[in-house]
Amino acid sequence: MKTFLRCVFIPAFLTVLAGCYTNPVTGRQYAVLVPQETERALGEQSFSEVKKTEKVSSNPILNARVNTVGKRIATAIGTDIPNAQWEFVVFESKELNAFALPGGKVGVYSGLLDLAESDSELAIVMGHEIGHVVARHGSKRMTEGIATAAVGLVGAEVVSDKYGADKKDLFLLAYGGVSALGYVLPHSRDDESEADQMGLYYAAKAGYDPRAAVTFWERMTAAKEGPKLPAILSTHPSDAQRIANLRATAPNFVPLYEQAAKAREAAGTP
Ligand SMILES: [Zn+2]
Repeated sequence: MKTFLRCVFIPAFLTVLAGCYTNPVTGRQYAVLVPQETERALGEQSFSEVKKTEKVSSNPILNARVNTVGKRIATAIGTDIPNAQWEFVVFESKELNAFALPGGKVGVYSGLLDLAESDSELAIVMGHEIGHVVARHGSKRMTEGIATAAVGLVGAEVVSDKYGADKKDLFLLAYGGVSALGYVLPHSRDDESEADQMGLYYAAKAGYDPRAAVTFWERMTAAKEGPKLPAILSTHPSDAQRIANLRATAPNFVPLYEQAAKAREAAGTP
């Protein structure tokens, strides 16, 4: 009976407790245990830590570029990130990297700005990173980690009665996991593909050409083959398959892009 409780009932209960999140763009559903309020608090905390440790750029041209593109993407996202407090910061570094944290906190490294030749390319990267946040991929991965941890605790209990699997311990694991692992570990290939599609959608909706994804990732791949490994690639597997997928799917978003571009022109904000 004890084995049943710990091996079957508790994991099932946790899954129910986690609830199901539906991605507002792709419609994909998965369990997410972390409340969005907690996500936001962790995002804000992590962002202020990064701002303390990395050099924040005061270059007005770079900041204007990132803020312009960022605000257009933020408008396209709307309530897909509830109660977002948007912040776009440029970090002075040769790293080819960008990131987004829950709550609407976005960082772009100056090295990446050199690589992204057009604002459409920049919009693709920012849309991709913010797509991970909308999709709540960090919390999703962490929730999967809890399920694994629960099973691990159960196994240990059965074997040696050494560990407790009470709710408090699981929550501690959860919150430790989200800050330490959730935003650092490589994304799964499925999550990457999903963020790619979301990036295309948000960029197009903001009036940026989704086809820029192909040129951007080709250049990123070429940079990868250079002497310095771009940091973004350590968490973002990039390969021929990804570029092929983007080349195949980007045209689907062109009508949305053309519609958005026309609306911007009509409104006098090209
Ligand atoms: Zn990604």
